[in-house]
Order: sequence, then C-alpha cells, then structure tokens
Amino acid sequence: MLPVLFIGHGSPMNAIANNPYTQTLARIGQEIPKPSAILCISAHWMTEGTWITHMQNPRTIHDFYGFPQALFDIQFPAPGSPMIAELVQKTVRSYDIQLDDELWGFDHGTWSVLRHMYPQNNVPVLQLSINITKPFEFHFELGKELRALREQNILIVGSGNIVHNLRKISWDTHAEPYDWAIEFDEWSKQQILSRNASSLVEHALDAKSGQLSIPTTDHYIPFLYALGASTEKDAIRFEYEGIENASISMRSVRFG
Ligand code: ZN
Repeated sequence: MLPVLFIGHGSPMNAIANNPYTQTLARIGQEIPKPSAILCISAHWMTEGTWITHMQNPRTIHDFYGFPQALFDIQFPAPGSPMIAELVQKTVRSYDIQLDDELWGFDHGTWSVLRHMYPQNNVPVLQLSINITKPFEFHFELGKELRALREQNILIVGSGNIVHNLRKISWDTHAEPYDWAIEFDEWSKQQILSRNASSLVEHALDAKSGQLSIPTTDHYIPFLYALGASTEKDAIRFEYEGIENASISMRSVRFG
C-alpha cells in the first residue's frame, strides 16, 4: 500500500526554487515506490460538485499574478489518465465524481510540488477538485473512500497549508511567525501524532489560533483528504516543517 502525503506548498516561487524544502520534495519522490498515477487535491481548485481531470494531456494553469515571468513560463508536461480518472470515479461509491474534459488542468498547487518530486514527468497526474459547498466532515469522509486507491498503487497528495493567512502575511520568508500560527501548527502536529482525526475535523476552528490560521478553508481542506486516506497503522513522518512569511505553515506529512 502506497503512503499518502500532505504537502504544505507555500509560495508559488517554490516551483522554481532550490532550497531545503524543494530538496525534501525531491527526496520524497525518490523514496516512495514509483506510483502508477498521482491523485492531487490542490487548494486551488474549488468547485461546486467534485470533479476530476479526465484529459490525456491536461494544460498547465498559471493561477497567480504579480510573480516573475519565469513562473509563467513553466510548463508541467505530466500526462493525465482518463482511465484512472474513471477508476477513481468508480472507487467512490457514496458520491458522484464528475469527469472534467475541458475546465481545469494542473494548477500551481499541483505542479509547484510535483515538478520537484517527479521531474521526469513519467507518472500520470490527476487533479480532484474541492466541493466548496461541503463541510470539513465531507472532505474527510471522501478521503476515506479514496484510501482504497493506495492499494492500486495510486499516490494521493493533498496540497495546501495547515496554517495559511494571506491577510497577515509578511513578504519576508524568514519573518518571525505569529504566536497563533505557532500554536495552531503545534496543536495540529499533536493531534496528528495522537491520531485524533476527529478533533482535526470537528474542532480546528474552535480556538482563536485556528480561526486565524484557517481564515478561509481552501488550504486546510486538502489536508483532510490526506488524513482521511491514512490509517491507524500508517507510520507518521513530518517530512518538512516550519512557518514561513509569518503566517504560512510548511508542515508536510507522510502517512505510511
Ligand atoms: Zn496555495
């Protein structure tokens, strides 16, 4: 059974950086047995309903502005796989996943991470959208249903950030983190280690630190997919941690 990953992706600039974080991604890509396909749940594809990319060659989407041209020049040429999209659709029995033939492709939540992990672009990649109309519980439960894909050699990757507050961001990468960011990041770490999934699903927004860390839910939800797809038996490894730009946690977790 393949591991499942949650990757804190942070700034799009990581896509073209060479730093300890991107080197960690490269190492993870080498350590994990080569998957047959990768299913990525990115914070940057929010829809009504849940969609999966169903193209043979999904396009590269540059879903940001105000960044250097070098970032807009990046193409992520990994293939898609209509066949695996249909397999994912069939694996989820309780809910209808819809096939996307034209809308999306690969956004930077996917390619800023995977281009470091799989630089040879030799593994098919699919993106699954986040249904914005649904609560945390739904995404966690859907993650549980996706768990079976791990036995089919499909690597599930949630790409977001456990702490992600752009309003409070400092443009200095190494700025002193906010106390609430440290507190929530540490709280989530302890809940993960004690395998207390229900508190991560039901109580993340109880404390002020959680409300400040998750001012919008988009970057937290991909973590709930990875959590749902994990099992009690999975070893837990924090592949990378640290708070950048004062309000972005780069905490990345490998289950299994
Ligand atoms: Zn993001």
